[in-house]
Amino acid sequence: MSGFPYLDYQHDQLWIESVALSAIAQKFGTPCYVYSKAALIAAYRAFDQAFAERDHLICYAVKANSNLVILQTLATLGSGFDIVSGGELQRVLKAGGDSQKIVFSGVGKSSDEIRRALQAGILCFNVESEMELMRLNQIAAQCQRIAPVSLRVNPDVDAKTHPYISTGLKENKFGIPMADAERIYVAAQQLSHIRVTGLDCHIGSQLTELDPFIEASQKMLALLDRLVQLGVHVEHLDLGGGLGIRYTQENPPAIHDYVQALCASVGQRSPRILIEPGRAMVGNAGVLLTRVEYLKHAPHRNFAIVDAAMNDLMRPALYDAHHAIIPLVKKMGQTQTYQVVGPVCETGDFLGHDRALYLEADDLLAVMSAGAYGMSMSSNYNTRPRAAEVMVDGDSVHLIRARESIDQLLAGETLLN
Ligand SMILES: *Cc1c(COP(=O)(O)O)cnc(C)c1O
Repeated sequence: MSGFPYLDYQHDQLWIESVALSAIAQKFGTPCYVYSKAALIAAYRAFDQAFAERDHLICYAVKANSNLVILQTLATLGSGFDIVSGGELQRVLKAGGDSQKIVFSGVGKSSDEIRRALQAGILCFNVESEMELMRLNQIAAQCQRIAPVSLRVNPDVDAKTHPYISTGLKENKFGIPMADAERIYVAAQQLSHIRVTGLDCHIGSQLTELDPFIEASQKMLALLDRLVQLGVHVEHLDLGGGLGIRYTQENPPAIHDYVQALCASVGQRSPRILIEPGRAMVGNAGVLLTRVEYLKHAPHRNFAIVDAAMNDLMRPALYDAHHAIIPLVKKMGQTQTYQVVGPVCETGDFLGHDRALYLEADDLLAVMSAGAYGMSMSSNYNTRPRAAEVMVDGDSVHLIRARESIDQLLAGETLLN
């Protein structure tokens, strides 16, 4: 299947690697996220190999999918990690990630998170404001550490993506304005417990064209040249993440072409290149399995009410995102146009609008391209336990996160007495 090299119909059954997805749904129940280990490894290798001989580090953006086994698989391949919280730091360390390959992004790092990252000895703090730089210097002094720092500079580039996932325009909350960057770099060099090591940007997510990446990298390189003249030498240039994937009609650049274009843009300059891919690493390595509970035929619309909902996969409700929805077992019959919706009490709770499907109660469906920003954005809204997660490796199937129980959900609450 195009975009999903490890998913295919065989004898009308949808398979992932060497396992029929309906067998996974029977065994582990639904809703259930299923990932292909081979797809994950292939994506990592595509990024890694495209750099060829150039000094580089791939820092997987943990927030796209933070399951420990996803992190462990990538760590084993030599991947670094881009984290945005103390929780993600703990996950990466638990999964066996190398702290010297961790970069820490985010506009609101707490003192406690900063302290823990300093103690872990991470590669770099991607600093997003002058105040954060000051706080970092202070905490590093208290901990008797030197904090390695990259400034996240906002290049003011239009990523041409959904406004909620566009981060590199000057009106966005992210990064330091380009006009302030040189002054803050020079100031950073004067701070006793800061060591300037890098320069970074991240302009948005689900980009389907190369131009904005190149425009941003050119602005970063021009800044890098100006910094050299000011006596500021950075060791690495981190160009962020954001490469898009195909959900339906999109035609994003291939991983190889994207990396090659970044390398060409950097040209003969010498800094080590970092990138922070999230979605392109895991997005098409995972599907969400769901079962049809009810079919409801209203006067103007047909509803397929399934057991997965916006709390399991938030992207349709949040961004009006489109995920293909296909049957686990192909059957012959007259298709109808369905609104595929979940049980949550919100009209925004849908997984897909106007889908042509032939459906009967209890049928199993796969919501495609659900590996990124699926499970990691899930919630317990409506007191719904979060889905199980399964990793397929060839013909073996591993439960990598048990379905949550309602008792677990209630465990932290106490009644007044
Ligand atoms: C979310 C994020 C990424 C990853 O973005 P993708 O679109 O998933 O590749 C990388 N860097 C930073 C700073 C981010 O916030």
